[in-house]
Amino acid sequence: MAVDPHPDRPWSPTYAAWVDELPRWLGSGVLRSRVPHPQAFGTRTHLLDRAYGVLDNTALHRALDVADVRLVRGLADTVTAETVVLRDGTEIRAHRVIDARGLRPDPALAEQTAFGIVLPTSAAAPALGDADCWFMDWRRDNGTSQTDPPSFLYAVPLSDDAMLLEETCLAGRPGLTQGELRRRLDTRLRNRGVEPPANLEVERVRFPVEAPRHTSDVAAFGARAGLIHPGTGYSVAASLSAVDDVVAALVAGHDVGKALWPWRARAVLSLREVGLAALLRLDPANTAVFFDAFFALPVERQRAYLSGRDDLSGTATTMWTLFRTVPPPIRRTLAEAGIRRS
Ligand SMILES: Cc1cc2nc3c(=O)[nH]c(=O)nc-3n(C[C@H](O)[C@H](O)[C@H](O)COP(=O)(O)OP(=O)(O)OC[C@H]3O[C@@H](n4cnc5c(N)ncnc54)[C@H](O)[C@@H]3O)c2cc1C
Repeated sequence: MAVDPHPDRPWSPTYAAWVDELPRWLGSGVLRSRVPHPQAFGTRTHLLDRAYGVLDNTALHRALDVADVRLVRGLADTVTAETVVLRDGTEIRAHRVIDARGLRPDPALAEQTAFGIVLPTSAAAPALGDADCWFMDWRRDNGTSQTDPPSFLYAVPLSDDAMLLEETCLAGRPGLTQGELRRRLDTRLRNRGVEPPANLEVERVRFPVEAPRHTSDVAAFGARAGLIHPGTGYSVAASLSAVDDVVAALVAGHDVGKALWPWRARAVLSLREVGLAALLRLDPANTAVFFDAFFALPVERQRAYLSGRDDLSGTATTMWTLFRTVPPPIRRTLAEAGIRRS
């Protein structure tokens, strides 16, 4: 049984992932676009040897077959390990309840914010230059100075004909406002010779990149269970990849929380929380240099930090390598973040 206020409503956010992060059982038909070599720009260009894709939400919905599931339309009000009481008073009893209600913005939690527009590919071309996709473009042609909190351009193809151009605040507590991001995107696009027409499709992004520590005895899943990467905000591929473990735990009668969080996964999360603390402390003037150092790492090192949830030695090696590579002022910030956490 599944409780959902709008089970048929299409998912509107643009969800993307590294292609190699997606579980095989999904098949390749869930992507609406795929870029073999996205690029990143800190103070110079990095060509990333790792395919990146945007999910086709309709195909993803179809792939997550719930034909045999009884769907209950409603909003859960009270949730315990074995009961859900809906807002209309209906009580549902279950052998095991899994809380996948996501996370809401909260001033105590670091968040990612972004403002984006969808443009025809030809109109967006000057913003891309010779790149097919900017995974991150930290150039300051968005009207900001070296002392302003930074934001980057995320530019991904949605299809052969459409591009999403998004000004993104990777992590802030609070994140940059929609108005500020919109101004920055306008300035950046104008500086690159793009004049967006009126009446555009827009995307507004705001979500926490960290989850409160899970203290309840109700099993959780998705962002609510902390499957969100604190340093990047990505969770979709991690959640999809964790499905098999959760199902296996349910079938075997094991604890879902323990299945999702073996000690290695908890240790990896702690290291990534240090990464978030470092991002929140980083001097705005050093951001581009920091990301230069990250994207100059071999792609295997990048993958270990960005993807998967239990590669402890890989995550630690990447962070240590980065620590040794960055200039001393950034190294100090990373060390402080490791000692104090923000
Ligand atoms: C615009 C946007 C773009 C993003 N892009 C990416 C991306 O490219 N890649 C990526 O990995 N991550 C992305 N994220 C971040 C994150 O992965 C998403 O927020 C993701 O949707 C989290 O998935 P979730 O299923 O855990 O929670 P949600 O998607 O928030 O789903 C929670 C579900 O619970 C339902 N619900 C809530 N309250 C109740 C209730 N009381 N009773 C019953 N049902 C309830 C909601 O209706 C919803 O269906 C993006 C986030 C946003 C907002």
